[in-house]
Amino acid sequence: MMSKPAPDRGTPPADASARSVALAVLRSGPVSRAELSRQLGLSTASLTRLTRPMLTSGLLIERRAELISRTGRPSRPLDVDAGHANFLGIKLTGSVAYAVVCDLKGVELARDERPIADPSPAAVVALVNSITESQRIDWPRLAGIGISLGGTVEGRRMVRRAPFLGWRDVALTDALSTEVDLPVSLDNDLRALAQAEHWFGAGRGCRSLLVITVGVGVGAAAVVHDQLLEGRGGLATLVGHWILDPDGPPCRDVDHRGCASAILTSGAIAEQATSGLHRPVSFEQCVGLAVAGDPVAGRVISYAADRLGFLTARLADVFAPERIVITGDGLDYVVAAEDDFRQALQENRSTEADPDDVRIAPGDFFNWARGAASIAIRDYVLTDLPVT
Ligand SMILES: [Zn+2]
Repeated sequence: MMSKPAPDRGTPPADASARSVALAVLRSGPVSRAELSRQLGLSTASLTRLTRPMLTSGLLIERRAELISRTGRPSRPLDVDAGHANFLGIKLTGSVAYAVVCDLKGVELARDERPIADPSPAAVVALVNSITESQRIDWPRLAGIGISLGGTVEGRRMVRRAPFLGWRDVALTDALSTEVDLPVSLDNDLRALAQAEHWFGAGRGCRSLLVITVGVGVGAAAVVHDQLLEGRGGLATLVGHWILDPDGPPCRDVDHRGCASAILTSGAIAEQATSGLHRPVSFEQCVGLAVAGDPVAGRVISYAADRLGFLTARLADVFAPERIVITGDGLDYVVAAEDDFRQALQENRSTEADPDDVRIAPGDFFNWARGAASIAIRDYVLTDLPVT
């Protein structure tokens, strides 16, 4: 089993224990004290001592007594006050910054969307600063900013490579910290989305989880023993060029055919519909035509949904997670051709598998921004939150 990350050097042990209590309540609340004691291996006395300052500060609240403990006394479950702090999450694409404000439980409260006219790091930093300043007027309890983007992020500080923005080796967190007087968190967009699904979304309560996204790109993330599997250089579960059909359409990036990127992305679906219908057809139009009964568009989305089922089955058999979440900004075809997806999943998967563990969670670009907010929440609870 993987060990839990060690607390920061210099963090007093009482702080570390209190933080683990806050985190457990955030992830499982409302939760009884008995259940918390069991989860964390703490005595009731320790739990009472650790929760007292957080109840006083208003971070934790007691829900109405609804549960009766085994002793016959009413038990008041603990919960986090979601309004205690707010977080700004921003997902950067090559052309748009999608922003959401979330509460401490990852629930979206507001949205903002700004074009990225100039993708230079300095201009993007100025844009993030401007979004922050305008959201702060409505949300004075902003306690952190999370930024996510497609690409390679190292050590949560440095963007090594962001092809959509044309960036290489940009110290984004440092650059933002000189402009914005709030803690800044940074991560790869898929890892951030997996974090949101794991703590607040369709994977809440699961210790193992697989998240598969389709849209502009194809991605996968695995949570194993409650930890996101990163792999060397954060390259685990990189499925974009897995071959799903050796006779499929050619790949744009690599000299091969029928990979996940060439079949499952919004762009690939638009290309296949355009070639099949002999006129320009967008991804949205293709799904619309398929739903309206067009046989050519119907075949395009059935094929993609079938191959997504195959990919999901392969990953599911490797990780055997408690839950599988299919989401992303280009999910409409999976919803429209769900039968094809589910049939391929079942045909290609271990017969021992639980057929009900897959959730299709419709999303859009703001879901990615919610992922970005969730990494700000994570860093707040694990590092910045006053707990003692
Ligand atoms: Zn490829």
